[in-house]
Amino acid sequence: MAPKRKPPKKKPAAKRPPRKRPAKQKIQPVEEILFRVEGKMSTFGGPTDTGMSATEGLALFTPADLQEPKYSYLFLPTPPPGTTGLGRRLNPEQNYFACRWNYNDTPREFLRRSLARVENPANGRTADARPVDWGPNVTTGRVADLSPGLAKALALQTDDIVRITISALRATPVKPVKRARPAKGTVPVTQPAAPTKPVIKQFVRSPNCSCRKVGTKIDKIVLHCTEGSLAGALAEFQKTDSRKVSAHYVIDRNGDIYQMVNDSDCANHCMGANAGSIGIEHVGSETDSLAPPQAAASGALIRWLLQEHQIPRTNIFGHDFTPGYCRPGGTSCPDKLFGPVHSQATIAAWVAANV
Ligand SMILES: [Zn+2]
Repeated sequence: MAPKRKPPKKKPAAKRPPRKRPAKQKIQPVEEILFRVEGKMSTFGGPTDTGMSATEGLALFTPADLQEPKYSYLFLPTPPPGTTGLGRRLNPEQNYFACRWNYNDTPREFLRRSLARVENPANGRTADARPVDWGPNVTTGRVADLSPGLAKALALQTDDIVRITISALRATPVKPVKRARPAKGTVPVTQPAAPTKPVIKQFVRSPNCSCRKVGTKIDKIVLHCTEGSLAGALAEFQKTDSRKVSAHYVIDRNGDIYQMVNDSDCANHCMGANAGSIGIEHVGSETDSLAPPQAAASGALIRWLLQEHQIPRTNIFGHDFTPGYCRPGGTSCPDKLFGPVHSQATIAAWVAANV
């Protein structure tokens, strides 16, 4: 949303009063974030994890890695009795973790060489850890599984919020290589299923829409921040007497998805770019970031939309950065929902981590 506010939205060049801090502290290296996720966690791996079968392997490592000095420390010297898989052979005291990787964005070989920063946002503790597996299953509502030792070091308990970042500064500088298909034998145990449309809590029809022109392909997704409450957004999009705005979907902080316009129709959410786009509003204020269930719901909806309409992954934009968007003065939308910096790079990093 947000076009109602007056331009200019772009902040003028910084004209701050001089600070007394040493100049050194003002210089911050630019951290290129290659992967980031934040949400609930649990623990996995090691001899006592009976949630893994005795034969279960790991998506990123094979038995050959047991002979590789830079990886062998992740594993116990001998397999626990009765087990043959690498999952139970993980050393639970070492720092490792699993996330639902998209191997197009973060290929296996890249992940194997990466060191991630894992953080407990509640107490600020951080630790370095290695990605070892794909998971947890999306139905758990969690975004990551950590080694028991890592969880303990960060004082995290099951279903606490964790933040995981892989940045160019911390990753071994290898160029991610796109692979058409994974190498034989390294297919993750839990392959993501083809996306289905997430449950729509309610279809609250908006009159502020029109038929798409014949032959117009849906080719982009535009992400918005409501800058107000769910009730406010639903009411605004049903009004016929004012700005006549709308969006296809509105996602509440708790992850509930409301649909207001059929995908096959144009909604009025992004001036100049409505013809071929789907608009998704996320309930939040100007200073909010996405709530974890909201991020999960948005990721699931976007995954389905990408497949349903064959939209390229690169065509997911923040409102202000949408090609064709032409409102004079721009907009501050989607604010800080997807990251602290108002940029398309922030959106792309969020997409890489959550979609
Ligand atoms: Zn917007």
